[in-house]
Parts: sequence; C-alpha cells; structure tokens
Amino acid sequence: MNLLVTEIFGPTFQGEGPSTGQQAAFLRLSRCNLTCTWCDTPETWDTSRFDLASMTRRMTESEVLHELLAVPAPLVVVTGGEPLLQQDRLVWLADMLRANERRVEIETNGTIVPVSGLLAAVKHWNVSPKLASSGVPYGKRINPEALRALNSSHRAVFKFVVEGPTDLEDVAELEAEYGLAPIWVMPQATTPTAVTAVMREIANETLTRGWNLSTRLHILLEDTDVR
Ligand code: SF4
Repeated sequence: MNLLVTEIFGPTFQGEGPSTGQQAAFLRLSRCNLTCTWCDTPETWDTSRFDLASMTRRMTESEVLHELLAVPAPLVVVTGGEPLLQQDRLVWLADMLRANERRVEIETNGTIVPVSGLLAAVKHWNVSPKLASSGVPYGKRINPEALRALNSSHRAVFKFVVEGPTDLEDVAELEAEYGLAPIWVMPQATTPTAVTAVMREIANETLTRGWNLSTRLHILLEDTDVR
C-alpha cells in the first residue's frame, strides 16, 4: 500500500518548536482527521476547496525514502495533515532514515495512539493538541489515551497554537488534566507582523507559567505583510 503524499521539499529550516532554525527535509502527508478553522495546510484534507486526488502523490515507502535522502539535511520532519493516519507505513521509513543518520521528527495533532514500532523508531514528537479556538469539538480534538501514550514516552513536546492570551487558560487546563510536559506555545498568525504581535502578547504569561515560546520562522522569512 502506498503513502499518500502532498509534498516532499527541502532543504529548508524547521520553522517551529524546539528544532527551529535547523536544516530539514519535509515530508507532508495527505489527509487529516480534524478540520481546524485556521488550518494552514487545507490542501491535505479539505475536499470542498481542493481536488485531493490531483494534489496527492501515491508513493511507495522506498520512493519516499529515496527523495528524502536526496535532500542534504540532517533532520527529516514528517508532517501533514495528520501523519499518524498512515502510521503503519511510517515504521520502516523511520527506521531507514535513522539508519541513514537522519534525525526524524513527527508532527501530530495527538488524537491517534502511536503504534509501538513507530514510538520506538522516532525519538522526537511534536504534538499539537488543538484548542477550542480551532472550532473542532473537544471529543474529536482531544484523545486522552493518545495524549497519555505520547506524554509517557518522554519523547514528545506539546506545541499549542494560540490566537492570543485568552487561549492560554485552555492550554493550562490540558496541562493540568493530562500532566503534559514540556509545553510550547506558538502564535496562530500568517504574517510577520501578526506573529510578532501575538508573541509579544503572550510572552510574559508564557514565562510565568513555565512554558516555552516558539516563533513561526517560515512566516517571518516570507514577505507576507502585504496580505
Ligand atoms: Fe490542519 Fe493540523 Fe488541524 Fe489537521 S490537525 S486540520 S492539518 S491544523
């Protein structure tokens, strides 16, 4: 069975989270199980706006491996969409990338329990549980079993996309409920000006709560303030 791939690209910089600024190859997998209102990759799932069939490459694991290894970057970021929808086809790929001295990070929305083989193969998980501001109902965006499995692996960071200070209490409730750590917060913004503005709004409270703050480097590097 093939992997459903939206795009493979790089080298570029990891734009978010603990590895921000590191050179990386990106594997963006197609399809998602959520429908966040502010999603910045709707081409992976939104059939009302995109023709997914024409935007999806069906590739074998070895074809994907070959393209990723052709990117001269030490880090491979597997993102989506929601990559764990295809997790059975990622175990071999993660093992092979590691065997070829690539560090692998998986970005997930934290709603799917990872299989043990993938949890063993991947040492860095960027888990982004969605908040109420995503527009997705709680029961769909929060899966306690998946969050606990990822948290107890001690291989995950929890990276929350926030629209502003009012979202921080929502993060704190999830932190308290599931003991999530470490926590990163990152602005939901699509222009350099907005990224900076939201970071300034949330910085002090983020510090006070003992969390980490992430920028969105790829947006800062784009000249998108004209939007
Ligand atoms: Fe988009 Fe991620 Fe939400 Fe899926 S989980 S809809 S990819 S923001």
